[in-house]
Amino acid sequence: MPSKYRSALRLAIAASAALLVACSPSPEPTGDGAASGHTRAANERLAKALPLDDQRDFKEAERGLIARDEQLLVKGPDGGVLWQPSQYDFVKGEAPATVNPSLWRQAKLNNLHGLYRVADGIYQVRGYDLSNMSLIEGDSGWIVVDPLTTQETATAAIAFARKHLGDKPVSAVIMTHSHVDHFGGVLAVLPKDRQIPIVAPRHFMEEATSENVLAGPTMSRRANYMYGQSLPKSPLGHVDTGLGKAPAFGSVSIAPPTALVDKTPQQMVIDGVEFQFQYTPNSEAPAELTFYLPKQKAFCGAEVLSRNMHNLYTLRGAKVRDALAWSAYIEEARKLFDQAEVYFASHHWPMWGRENIDTFLRGQRDVYKYIHDQTLRLAYKGYTPREIAEQLSLPNSLAKTFANRGYYGTVSHNSKAVYQAYFGWFDGNPANLNPLPPVAAAEKYIAAMGGKDAVMQLAQAAYNEGDYRWVAQLLNHLVFAGGGKNAKELLAKTYSQLGYQAESGPWRDVYLSAALELRNGTSEQTVSLAGAKDMLKYTPVERFFDAMAAQLNGVKAEGKDIRLKVTFIDLNKSYELWVENSVLHYQVAEGGERIDSSIRISHELFLDIVLGISSLADMVGSDQLEVSGSAIKLVQFFSLLDKSSEPFAIIEP
Ligand SMILES: [Zn+2]
Repeated sequence: MPSKYRSALRLAIAASAALLVACSPSPEPTGDGAASGHTRAANERLAKALPLDDQRDFKEAERGLIARDEQLLVKGPDGGVLWQPSQYDFVKGEAPATVNPSLWRQAKLNNLHGLYRVADGIYQVRGYDLSNMSLIEGDSGWIVVDPLTTQETATAAIAFARKHLGDKPVSAVIMTHSHVDHFGGVLAVLPKDRQIPIVAPRHFMEEATSENVLAGPTMSRRANYMYGQSLPKSPLGHVDTGLGKAPAFGSVSIAPPTALVDKTPQQMVIDGVEFQFQYTPNSEAPAELTFYLPKQKAFCGAEVLSRNMHNLYTLRGAKVRDALAWSAYIEEARKLFDQAEVYFASHHWPMWGRENIDTFLRGQRDVYKYIHDQTLRLAYKGYTPREIAEQLSLPNSLAKTFANRGYYGTVSHNSKAVYQAYFGWFDGNPANLNPLPPVAAAEKYIAAMGGKDAVMQLAQAAYNEGDYRWVAQLLNHLVFAGGGKNAKELLAKTYSQLGYQAESGPWRDVYLSAALELRNGTSEQTVSLAGAKDMLKYTPVERFFDAMAAQLNGVKAEGKDIRLKVTFIDLNKSYELWVENSVLHYQVAEGGERIDSSIRISHELFLDIVLGISSLADMVGSDQLEVSGSAIKLVQFFSLLDKSSEPFAIIEP
């Protein structure tokens, strides 16, 4: 994805340039001085309230270190930097005033990378990706648990492990769940010459290859904010996601499982090692498992457990998760695997000691259940999402433990997720049933408040008071009402302060990405799917038809009647697609209906077109594509599909 890296670089340069040449009356200071007195005070208050010098996590995160490659540098498919931990070398010592001290502590822990011994025959490569690769010694080779996000990072991780642990083959792979950071690198660890056992939870392939296809165009743009992909890595920019350093973008693959986990408990012997699996669907991921190794008394919590409060709702935009089910699986694991002396997982560092693990599991179990139950308790009294989020905080018994804190999810947005799961977007108040859309509302609010200058004065006064959430609401109206450069600059400063105070990595990245775009305009970054071809070839073609239907422009399609037949030459499958009532339908071809135009295409070329590698027009006449029937109808059909408008504006209309 060369253009992606270039645009990231351009933005980073533009960001530094903007800071240098800002010529508004009060130029934004750089370095520590960028934090206002209010931000400084808020961060100091939190630092005092937490036992930040507690060393237990650091001891556990460093325990068992075998080797660390300080020079680690993984290049992407285009030769650009894909992974380089030294980019985060600035994360050391005391927290700067521009970073929440609790997030800074988590960022320091997530900086620790290398190969670690977890227990007899259990190792982890950590900090080679957002996620961990775990290695379990089998009779004939390594059982790889979670082969990272990309083939590039997985290649580096497995090579590093082999260099220090011995060059044994990979004898099996376990993919704990259907999120890409736990399987995308699989082709890099599978032997080329033979089939080995590949274990995954039931419905893994369907979920892994289809989960985000329909939501993709919107979700990927919003992920850019959530992970701060355009931000420089610096005390003024991205420091950590909370869950790990950052997502990896490279060549993504998948491999179909040879054995499925679909019940609890489920015993399996893999390369001579006894496993007890727990099936945990619809928890952190739609398809997920955890497991226990009786011989080592080791429990792998996958991502059902992590050393932060996870997301019941993820800010990139996704379906909300089931808090009760999630919590119940943790309780089930606590009882089922109560002999565990070691805990390790798909993110973060391990834990040792039966009592420690039990306390940790009780805490994680109750973080989700507390938010669930208390949200409902307040909803029963008629409180609405923003009111509930404002009142809720974890009880001290949970909040004092770092592993329960909101480095990734937060009490605020997770409680809104619980509300959403039960009650949806409408809070019952008719003022919110059909309110004016943002621009129209903004114009009327600004006029009602006495015009743009008056609102700027109000905003500046509130900014000076440190009332940043209110400033953001005021100035968001002003920017949506076309408020101009000064409004954008003050809103950018406001979002920056909110970012500097945020304990959650995603909150920080969302605020700071917004500030960056207010100053420099909408990011040019788009996500190229080309690197995901090894995964997308397993995505059922029906999912792409679903996505195509969601691109049909309903207004343009009014009154259109077009019927196509698409035959996949190499899949031996034919589909009829037709437009009716401005809706695109498809079904396996039955024949008998009128067909205006037929396409015979290879699956490979179809994917290339979907991925933007080839265009239909260029390929007409090639042996991978044959078109017959009415060319006009075919052109008309494709003209009804909207082009993706990514990257769309977020912080302005
Ligand atoms: Zn993950």
